[in-house]
Amino acid sequence: MSDRPSFFEATVNQVMSACELMDVEPGIRLILSQPKNEVVIHFPVRMDSGEFKLFMGYRIQHNNVLGPYKGGMRYRNELDLDSGKALATLMTMKNSLVEIPFGGAKGGIKFDPSLHSENEIMKITRRFTHALSNNIGPEYDIPGPDLGTDSGTMAWMMDTYVNSHDSLNRSANMHVVTGKRPICGGSKGRDKAVGQGMFYVLEEWARERYVDLSECTFAVQGFGQVGGFAARILDGVGAKLVAVNDIGGSLRRANGIDPKALADWVREHGSVAGYPDAEVCSREDFFSTKCDIFIPAAVQEVIDEKTAPQLKCKLVCEGANGPTTPAGDAILAERGIEVVPDILANAGGVIVSYFEWVQNKKSEQWELSEVDAKLKLYMTKAYARLRRVQYEKKVNARLAAYAVSVDRLQAAYLERGIFP
Ligand code: NAD
Repeated sequence: MSDRPSFFEATVNQVMSACELMDVEPGIRLILSQPKNEVVIHFPVRMDSGEFKLFMGYRIQHNNVLGPYKGGMRYRNELDLDSGKALATLMTMKNSLVEIPFGGAKGGIKFDPSLHSENEIMKITRRFTHALSNNIGPEYDIPGPDLGTDSGTMAWMMDTYVNSHDSLNRSANMHVVTGKRPICGGSKGRDKAVGQGMFYVLEEWARERYVDLSECTFAVQGFGQVGGFAARILDGVGAKLVAVNDIGGSLRRANGIDPKALADWVREHGSVAGYPDAEVCSREDFFSTKCDIFIPAAVQEVIDEKTAPQLKCKLVCEGANGPTTPAGDAILAERGIEVVPDILANAGGVIVSYFEWVQNKKSEQWELSEVDAKLKLYMTKAYARLRRVQYEKKVNARLAAYAVSVDRLQAAYLERGIFP
């Protein structure tokens, strides 16, 4: 048995430390310590072979005092309720920090999509969406993409939802899901939003630290929606990708890896493994590659007591949700490695999802320049709020980020009162 706190326990501990710092009332601490709803659904789907298989899907709704529940849907074999609860809590914290009118949720289906045909994934998605029924809704709980899901998955979810609800209001319900392609009501810039938001925060960090981003080197774990776009955007300003790791293996190259060519390779082969223009290296080599910025953009709990001592970077910018364990965090602090915490660093995704939701409600389509300009404003304002509390309270960036969030949640509860 490990004495490491579970992902959910570690997340709640962080929330409670922030509550302590901001003097949050005991009743509000209690509310934030558990999700409001945990929906678990077992549903059958007929496979291409004609056989039936049973799947487990869930939706955890942590808090909705600031607005409808909002959070991604994850397709992954290593999926459990503990991580779902942690990820839903992180969404409440993130949405509060960046001041968008949403609460926090997370969901997913326990299966490995790489073992299924597109037809099976579509049927699994549609059957789950149908079974969720009114547990999601455009003004109640709004799923988006996450690990193992993408704009195509969101299009199936949206289509299933609108077809199983009031047929006179099909178009009016499109905002039940975000992360769709523009042709299905999505926002321009949603695909790159996490990477773009991360870039705006990195610009702020670089300005504060007198660092020239165009001369920085960086390493990325996970080369999907988040890692792939972050790498291409940083490469676009001259920063150099020197190491990459994903589910298939690790690569490095001191002279830089071309993220556009690598993204084409991954699209075709499903992983960075086998990409010819870089050296194959071990996972340990990947973590210990010298770089300025390390970007975890894959799964949770990867920077821990084993890997944190290996990192040779100035900054960890958390693209993934929950990539650093408490033990890992303590080691990074001891070693003077700065952290931009996940609830800020990867918030670009949910911010542009919020823009998509607003565009759907108003039947509008904004230009990319407008989306990017608004995203920059939300990211830089949240960064400034975090830094203000960090300097005032003399705490680390993660605790400051949570402190800003719980303070805002408390303000909402105090204004509304706790029913009954
Ligand atoms: P994705 O499915 O597009 O890509 C995931 C990547 O991680 C792939 O390259 C995969 O090979 C790699 N990976 C998976 N398991 C791994 C492992 N054990 N070790 C190393 N690499 C592994 O997913 P994504 O949407 O890019 O999400 C990545 C992370 O970013 C997740 O933590 C997610 O919660 C977070 N996030 C995503 C969004 C979004 O809008 N997509 C928004 C905010 C945060």
